[in-house]
Amino acid sequence: MILVNDRVFVQQHLATEHLEKMTPQSKDELKADVKRLLIEQDAVLVAHYYTPDVIQELAEETGGCVSDSLQMARFGNQHSASTLLVAGVRFMGETAKILTPQKRILMPTLEATCSLDIGCPVDEFSAFCDQHPDRTVVVYANTSAAVKARADWVVTSSIALDVVEHLMDRSEKLIWGPDKHLGSYIQQQTGADMLMWNGSCIVHEEFKAKGILDLKRVYPDAALLVHPESPASVVEIADVVGSTSQLIRAAHELPNKTLIVATDRGIFYKMRQKAPEKQFLEAPTGGMGATCRSCAHCPWMALNELEAMVESLRDGSNEVQVEAGLAKRAMLPLERMLDFTVNASH
Ligand code: SF4
Repeated sequence: MILVNDRVFVQQHLATEHLEKMTPQSKDELKADVKRLLIEQDAVLVAHYYTPDVIQELAEETGGCVSDSLQMARFGNQHSASTLLVAGVRFMGETAKILTPQKRILMPTLEATCSLDIGCPVDEFSAFCDQHPDRTVVVYANTSAAVKARADWVVTSSIALDVVEHLMDRSEKLIWGPDKHLGSYIQQQTGADMLMWNGSCIVHEEFKAKGILDLKRVYPDAALLVHPESPASVVEIADVVGSTSQLIRAAHELPNKTLIVATDRGIFYKMRQKAPEKQFLEAPTGGMGATCRSCAHCPWMALNELEAMVESLRDGSNEVQVEAGLAKRAMLPLERMLDFTVNASH
């Protein structure tokens, strides 16, 4: 089992406290500093849906992007800026560096990791793959560059089902890593022959079917939107299961006026923007008791702060580096992913 280290929780707490205490003026001043530095540094802000609202707002106001990890990769790859400021977690910065080695990739912090990445060390994962040389290795984007370099395919949750179906059509047997819940969901949907790595997301794993059913009794007309990194018991009772982008689309398109959402609450920023007339409720987690380690918000995404962005842009600190040989090997499955989505969309 993976435990979030205490230091990260302390940092998260400090970050939240600090944002809460900031006066509107100081927030506006920091935003103005980031805007000025983005121009000075020929940089663009690429932010994930789970980052704090103020970061998403800033990305939109400066011509950057707010999206899922697949779109972040594509946007950074295609944008003309010479520097990408990636607000998210480390694997997103690494992916940007691998796909655009000629660009400078900065992050507000290099401390922001992911429980899926931590729970899939390359040595152990490689040994697992070596035991099954006849299987195609498919890994989730939430992995280190080294794990990607060991894989045949990289996928995000938005295309995982399509890629696995494609591989099944070619009669390929798979190794899937690292998220066991997403893997089980795909296996159940496709019937694919998949050997699973035993990883999980500490945020999604906290959602509880019982709590959600209790909430549905209070809001009987609410639809339940679930990210497939959640446990099977939660996925089973969902009205819609999908990636972040797919859930945002569903929030807009469903007729329900109330939506219960089982993913990181950072997504509410976009959902409210797309469907301002609707009510969004966080799916219950373990609550504030002993079992809740994330309470529907990723502690690493919360490390993305305005001050850190100013420092990174001003000083060139927190630059992401990926060793060239590793990057070259990791590029292959990443390009396969991007090519697959281009071909699939035509
Ligand atoms: S929400 Fe989960 S999967 Fe996403 S970065 Fe945080 S720990 Fe990783």
